[in-house]
Amino acid sequence: MRIDIQIEFEDAVFGIEKEIKIDHLETCETCKGSGAEPGSTPVRCSTCGGGGKVKQTTQTILGHFTQIATCPDCNGKGVRIENPCKACKGYGRIEKEKTIELKIPAGVDNGSKMRVSQEGDAGKNGGPPGDLYVVIHVKASDYFKREGVNVFTKLEVSPAQAVLGDEINIKTLDGEKQISVPVGLQSGQTVKIKGAGVPHLGRSSQRGEHIVIVEVKTPTHMSEEEKQLYKKLYEINTGKKAHEKESLIDKVKGAFGG
Ligand SMILES: [Zn+2]
Ligand SMILES: [Zn+2]
Repeated sequence: MRIDIQIEFEDAVFGIEKEIKIDHLETCETCKGSGAEPGSTPVRCSTCGGGGKVKQTTQTILGHFTQIATCPDCNGKGVRIENPCKACKGYGRIEKEKTIELKIPAGVDNGSKMRVSQEGDAGKNGGPPGDLYVVIHVKASDYFKREGVNVFTKLEVSPAQAVLGDEINIKTLDGEKQISVPVGLQSGQTVKIKGAGVPHLGRSSQRGEHIVIVEVKTPTHMSEEEKQLYKKLYEINTGKKAHEKESLIDKVKGAFGG
């Protein structure tokens, strides 16, 4: 028996206890799984005489062949129920809703399977229950991208922060943490936080890394002071006089008199 459940991104990382409801077949308590009404007993199958097997003879031009087959009237059980149990209509099993306490371990990933022993359907004729397989679907996070035990996030910094370096607070799986953007950072460079990734499944004390991809964002809206400073930088960098070019947004605003 298999069921599918969906859990949140963070719950897959740190594990969670979850109550789930399943519909499964349980052994009928009235007849203890025999399928016969209490007080009545299954009778010996007259077709096979209780052996569960029948001989089938096929006549061919070469003579006749005898095959042994499962008795079609009792399905090989050797007995027949004359008086079926009213509670289960003779099936021996009843569908019941059951609540199961599921302990999802830290580090499960999308598509992980968990085996919960003996919580599947009851066996036929009062036999032991089978196992329940739980397939875990993990909701994607808007912020974290996960690859195995590592998580990736993006961070945008200004050109000034990239040039001079900075200490920046970012959201991690363990809450806010400060990272150091190095002096002279290039766009796309990564900053790693060791041990802030996803725990290894079954070894939750060991965790992967949180890898921050730092991108330098070119400003599009600036104050007059910032504009003057960039013009000065431009003149130092190129040795040319800074020109006044309008951004597309300013052009549109200008055209509508805004
Ligand atoms: Zn029954
Ligand atoms: Zn039979």
